[in-house]
Amino acid sequence: MAKQDKGKTKKVTGKASYAFLKNLINTPSPTGFEWNGQKLWLEYIKAWTDEQFTDPYGSAAAVINPGAPFKVVLEAHADEISWFVNYITPEGLIYLKRNGGVDHQVAPAKRVIIHGRKGPVKAVFGWPAIHTRLSGGESKETAPRVDNLFLDCGARSRKDIESLGVHIGAVVTYEEGYDELAFDYLVGRAMDNRVGGFMIAEVARLLKENKKKLPYALYFVNAVQEEIGLRGAEMMARRIKPNVAIITDVTHDTTTPMVNKMIEGDIACGKGPSLAYAPAIHNKLLDLVRETAEEKKIPVQWRTLSRSTGTATPLLMPTMDVLRC
Ligand SMILES: [Zn+2]
Repeated sequence: MAKQDKGKTKKVTGKASYAFLKNLINTPSPTGFEWNGQKLWLEYIKAWTDEQFTDPYGSAAAVINPGAPFKVVLEAHADEISWFVNYITPEGLIYLKRNGGVDHQVAPAKRVIIHGRKGPVKAVFGWPAIHTRLSGGESKETAPRVDNLFLDCGARSRKDIESLGVHIGAVVTYEEGYDELAFDYLVGRAMDNRVGGFMIAEVARLLKENKKKLPYALYFVNAVQEEIGLRGAEMMARRIKPNVAIITDVTHDTTTPMVNKMIEGDIACGKGPSLAYAPAIHNKLLDLVRETAEEKKIPVQWRTLSRSTGTATPLLMPTMDVLRC
C-alpha cells in the first residue's frame, strides 16, 4: 500500500506499483474514449513530477524540470482497440464496427462491456452452438467476420436496448482484466499499451525516489488514439516540440506457434526489452541505449523494421524506439 512520507512525496512500494498496473489494465480506455485510464495515470504520476497537463483530445503529460531548453519525451499510448455499436436489430441484437485493429477471430463467445450512457452493460458475442454449425459437415464451418458477429445483452427489442442507455457509437471492450499466471507472467486485456504507460510512470517514480537531478526537461507522455493512426502523439509532438523521444510499446513473442521467425525475428518474453533498428530510429540514440544496456548488463533483444516502427516514432522526431514484450 502507498505510505505517506513526512514530506509531500508518497513512498510507493513494489506492491503499490503492481496495484497501479492492475488498476490501469482493469480500467477500459478505448481509442477516442481514454479519459478513465488517463485520470488514473495522471493521479499516479503526479507525485513524481513537477507539472502535468492534458490536451483537448485527452493526451496526458507530466513533466520533470519544465522550462529547461532541451526536451526529452518518454512516450506510451493510452488507448486500446475496441468495438463500436453500429447497428441494433429490431429483435435487440447488436452489430459492431471496429475501433482500431481489433481481431474478429477471437471474438466468438467472449464477454464484453458496452459503455452506454447509463453506465456499463454486460453482453456476450453470440455464436451458433457446434451442433448447429457442424450439421452440414466440418467443411461448412463459417468463420467469424465483422458482418456475422453480434452481441446479445439480454434485450429482446431495440427499445429494450435503448432503455439500457446503449446507443449507436457506444464503445465495447472485452471484459477480461489483469490476472497472474505461473512463473511471474501476467495476462490481461490491453497490455498494449498499459504496460508502456506503467513503465514510463515507474521511471518518474524511480527518478524522484532516488533524487536524480536532470539537466533537461523530461516529459512523460501518455498519448491517445495511437491505434487508429498515431493521432495523439502527433498532436503532442507539435505542442511539446521535443529534441529527443523514446517510444515504448509492446511487441510480439515470436516463440508463439504459427509465428514465422524468419520474418518476425527472434523475440521471447522474459529475455529483456526489445530494441529495433529502423530508418525512423535515430542511430546515435539507439547506440547510447545499447551501450548503456551493455554497461549495466541489461539483456536486450533486437528486431528490424523496414520503414517506420508501427509506434509513434516517426511523429516524435528525432526518436528512438524501445519496444518491450
Ligand atoms: Zn501499441
